[in-house]
Amino acid sequence: MRRAACPGSFDPVTNGHIDIIARASTLFDEVVVAVGVNPSKSRLFSAQERIEMLTEACGSYPGVSIDSFDGLLTDFCRDHDVRAIVKGLRAVSDFDYELQMAQMNSSLSGVETVFVPTSPEYSFLASSLVKEVATYGGDVSGLVPDLVLTRLTRRLSERAAERASERASERPPPGA
Ligand code: ADP
Repeated sequence: MRRAACPGSFDPVTNGHIDIIARASTLFDEVVVAVGVNPSKSRLFSAQERIEMLTEACGSYPGVSIDSFDGLLTDFCRDHDVRAIVKGLRAVSDFDYELQMAQMNSSLSGVETVFVPTSPEYSFLASSLVKEVATYGGDVSGLVPDLVLTRLTRRLSERAAERASERASERPPPGA
């Protein structure tokens, strides 16, 4: 049984992630999508929400399951009998960091990293960029699944309302 992990923060999952997960599932018997839970990092969506979106988007793919990890990815791999980490490579700029991580993970535990080149239509796609574009009202449909678009639109409008009410409470009352 060859089991691989697709790690990431998936805040939120994009069509670029889904493409890599789907392609990884054709290479391995089982693919565990490993959602990084790092409480010190500020995320738009909670770990539970990110897992729910991934489960809805690709949890029914054959051999694909969704899990989370906190701490070292190599510990997760050891505990889940994962032999390979699958990473998508978007551009040369991804490569330096990913090579360093792959070598570190290999030296820590011997786990191999398999790089899958991004499909050209997703080579510019990152969760951070999707959030930034959507924050300013840009159209990100086609870049994320519809279920993510719905949640993203709702979360961003909640955040905008929160910021507006914070600003209103900081303003001095009229005539003060
Ligand atoms: P982000 O999407 O913001 O880069 P993640 O940590 O969620 O951040 O990404 C997890 C992994 O998913 C990345 O390390 C990369 O391997 C892969 N990935 C993300 N976006 C793409 C994409 N558009 N094409 C291919 N792989 C991608």
